[in-house]
Formats: sequence, C-alpha cells, structure tokens
Amino acid sequence: MQEHDLSYILNQLGEEDRERHRGAVAPPIYQSSIFAFATVEKMRAAFGDELDNTLYTRGNNPTVEILRRKLAALEGAEDALLFGSGAAAIAAGVVAGLRAGDHVVCVQKPYSWTRTLLRDFLARFGVSHSFVDAREVAGIEAALTAQTRLIVLESPNTMTYEQQDLAAVATLARARGIRTLVDNSYATPLNQRPLALGIDLVAHSATKYLNGHSDVVAGVLCGSKALIREVFSGPYMTLGAMLSPHDAWLMIRGLRTLPLRMRQVAASTAQVVEFLQNHAKVEQVWYPHAADDPQAALTRRQISGASGLLSFTLRCETTAAVERFCDALQRFLMTVSWGGYESLLFPVAAVYPPDTRVGAHKPGQVPVNLLRLSIGLEEPDVLLADLAQALDRV
Ligand SMILES: *Cc1c(COP(=O)(O)O)cnc(C)c1O
Repeated sequence: MQEHDLSYILNQLGEEDRERHRGAVAPPIYQSSIFAFATVEKMRAAFGDELDNTLYTRGNNPTVEILRRKLAALEGAEDALLFGSGAAAIAAGVVAGLRAGDHVVCVQKPYSWTRTLLRDFLARFGVSHSFVDAREVAGIEAALTAQTRLIVLESPNTMTYEQQDLAAVATLARARGIRTLVDNSYATPLNQRPLALGIDLVAHSATKYLNGHSDVVAGVLCGSKALIREVFSGPYMTLGAMLSPHDAWLMIRGLRTLPLRMRQVAASTAQVVEFLQNHAKVEQVWYPHAADDPQAALTRRQISGASGLLSFTLRCETTAAVERFCDALQRFLMTVSWGGYESLLFPVAAVYPPDTRVGAHKPGQVPVNLLRLSIGLEEPDVLLADLAQALDRV
C-alpha cells in the first residue's frame, strides 16, 4: 500500500487518468448498473474478482471506486467498501465474521442502531452480546468469554463521548484472536487512525463529517484487503446496501474540503465550549477536548484534533424549560444527525413525553435535559449570540 499526502488523496487519488474522460477535472458519474464485455474471457475474469473489476454496480462501480480508494487511503487501510448508510457499514462489519453461538462485547450506550443490531436483531440468530463500560480496558476483559469473536467500539461514543483505549483493546483482542471494529465517525480519519493502533475494521457514518453537506446518507468500512474481501463476498453482496454512483460523486465533492471544514469547526467549537462552561444556566458540558474531561489524557494520546460535537445539560427542573431554550434558538437547526456545514441541536427531551421531570432517566441513560450541539461553519459570534439569547429564556 502506497502512502499519499492528504492533498493528493483528496484531489488526485483515483482520478489520475483524466485523459480517459477528455480531461474532465471533476470525475464523471458512471450512472450504469451494468458493464459489458467484448469477449467471454474478459467476462470470466471479471466474475473471478468482482471486487476489483466492474461488472455490476451492486459490487463495484467506477465512480464509487474513486471514493473507495480515497477513504481507504485516508484511514491508512488496504481497502474500503462504501455503503448506503453508516448503519449498513457497521452491520456488515459486525455480521461478516459471526455465526450462531458467538458472543460480541460492545461499548455501553453505542449509537442506537448499533445497539438494536446486537440486542434485537443478532440475538434472533443465536449471537449473544454484553454491553460494557469500556473506559478502562479491564471492563472489556472481564466480559470476554470463550465464545467472544468480536469487540465493537465507538470512541468517542454517542452523546457523552466516553472513549476506549484503542491500542490497549487491540492488544488484548489480538492475543485472543478476537476481531475488533470501531465506529470512528466522531473523530474522522484526519484526527484518529484506529488501524494504526491495531484495530481490524473501521466504520464511519459518512453521512456526517466525511460528506459534510447534509445531502447524502452513506457509510464506509475500512480494513485489510483480506477482511474487506470477506465482507464483500458476504454481507456486502448478499444484503446489497451499496452506495449509488451519484451519491458517491457528491461525497467525492464533499470530501475535498474535509480538512478545511474540520479546522473551522474545531476553532468555533472551542469558543462555544468556553462560553457554555462559564454560563450560569449550564450545569455540565461534555466535550472530550476540554481540559477537565475525565479522559483528557487519552484524548491527547489518541485524537490529534477536535470535532464539532458537544453536549450539555441545563440547570432546570422540567423539560418545559429545556423546550423554551430549544424553541428560542434561531440559527441552530433542531434535528437528528450531525457533521454538516450548518449548526444543529438535538434535544434528548424530544424522545421523552412532555413534562418529563429532569432526572427521570434511569442510571446509565443519557439525561433528559441533555442537549447535543453539532457546530457548523457559521461565524462563531453568530452562534454565541444565538445561544445567549436562548439561554435567557431558561
Ligand atoms: C449517525 C451515526 C451512525 C449511523 O449512520 P447512518 O449514516 O445514519 O446510517 C453510526 N454511528 C454514529 C456514531 C452515528 O452518529
């Protein structure tokens, strides 16, 4: 595998042969489901290796392949597969090596559909699981059984950003022949490189920072050629959750500005965090790059730059006060997802009935009054002013 610099990956990799397309600077969208052959011999060769030939777009497509090469290079992986969603990428990576009787260890409170995959879906096929507090590697070690085949990580994780020591988990898993998969959506490949730390598979919701424009749902799975081939001939081809050529083209475009977007987002987020930490109506702020984060030392060791996700709780008794704050925001859009050009708000109160008492959540659950922000590319002053006027309503 060849190492390329970041600009080469984003501007050139997979697009070198522009003469094939009359010099077109932006790559063409191969909007074709099938690719024809002049001879039986050539068709036979394509059947022999669908991952690296173009035969049928459920398997491989030239536009998708450009994106695939870029994302593999960004993660320092031998190969990658693009999916129609992050959930599909995670599910494919999880089920590829499992059979009935196997056991999976997973971080507690993972992304909701990762939890559902293990708890409700795979359980029906005889695969058992344990959700564990994985802030210390001992939490994972204690849950391993003779049947454990896979460890599923998410670092930092959804909503509250607990981390796992990826190198330590990889060492533990390798010694016992257990596969590891990490959801790296939060950090992006620019800021965290799990494969270099010994993790086997890296998944992303590419819907978030990698595409970055809130116009495509996509996922990616990165790993060794052998593992990617196993996923390809298993869940990838059988479940068929591939990315369309048009969506791949949009993502190639979105990806080109990833370093610029992440730089701006990190700078603005630092300002928002400081503002919230010093505001009387804010109870607690969750942000792995904060100096007082309980895992700050691990953040410094494992993540090279900040992202734009943070959470906080308001000092209030009722969800009505939370709702007044949310409804007053003008510049933050209230919705799910994150990682786009625009700043977003996700209120946990929206999944609870109205008038739920603050503190009514069960231990281990995310607090009812928790608000997650995804900081976008607006001028930070605009965002601070909006937060200030909305906090006045609490
Ligand atoms: C959004 C998200 C996913 C799922 O990705 P989709 O593209 O929505 O399917 C997985 N993991 C994390 C951490 C996410 O935030």
